Amino acid sequence: MVTFRGLRVYVTSVKTALSRSGLPDLDYSLNPYIGCGHGCIYCYARQYTGNKMVSENWGKIVFVKSNIVAILMREVRKLKPGTVGVGTITDSYQPVEAVYKLTRKSLEVLLSHGFKVSIQTKNPLVVRDTDLFARNPGKVDVGFTITTLDNKLSSFLEPSSPPPRARVEALRKITALGVKTWIFYGPIIPGLNDDEDTVSNLVEIASELGATLYYDPLHVKPFMNRNDHPLNNYVKTKTMNWWTKVSRTILNYCMKNHIECKPGFTGDSRGG
Ligand code: SF4
Repeated sequence: MVTFRGLRVYVTSVKTALSRSGLPDLDYSLNPYIGCGHGCIYCYARQYTGNKMVSENWGKIVFVKSNIVAILMREVRKLKPGTVGVGTITDSYQPVEAVYKLTRKSLEVLLSHGFKVSIQTKNPLVVRDTDLFARNPGKVDVGFTITTLDNKLSSFLEPSSPPPRARVEALRKITALGVKTWIFYGPIIPGLNDDEDTVSNLVEIASELGATLYYDPLHVKPFMNRNDHPLNNYVKTKTMNWWTKVSRTILNYCMKNHIECKPGFTGDSRGG
């Protein structure tokens, strides 16, 4: 175990790299890390991680799949090429990626073997790999999760994630290369980030970038119902009427700005 910027980092090995994906438009998923140093308080992945130590210390412990690139090399020779969701459970560009570079090395393998990749992240570290994206036109799309443009609210919801404006800047840089980009506005939480200002600002950014906007309400998970969870009071106010009103507002803004808006992925949004 080593420590890295306050995180406890362990190394593990895996038997498989790619798994079949049930998410729309994806054939496979790839997740080089277990756990996520971004430590978002709403993160659904903590429920699906299957590692008690990680889920009970969310945002403080990460396992690095040290042999994932070697395993991936074997798998790409046998599998039919398709689209790989990169970071479908946890963020593949979380801070440890700056050291281990497993995501970059995996992208190199996938792109050189005819696979396409769809990346979702909150971390501008992804800009490091724009040379790969530029060399593989039409084979990469990149989405950023932006729940709010308010730094204070972002620090509450996503305590160790890069600030929202840094994510917007990263999206601008990637879009400028001709790479398809998108914004994931979610989870939308009653009374926190469901206001009209947030909606209109995000729609404006998507419009400027020509990006698709995905939107998704909070999906309440058992750990959020605990009295000591910081979202506990907010989840109680989530109703169907609330969501009907919020989604109508989003769609109205999208129509006015002529941008493509789509409901988010199947209730268990992708990582990042
Ligand atoms: S960045 Fe994504 S995977 Fe990481 S903690 Fe936040 S929501 Fe979870």
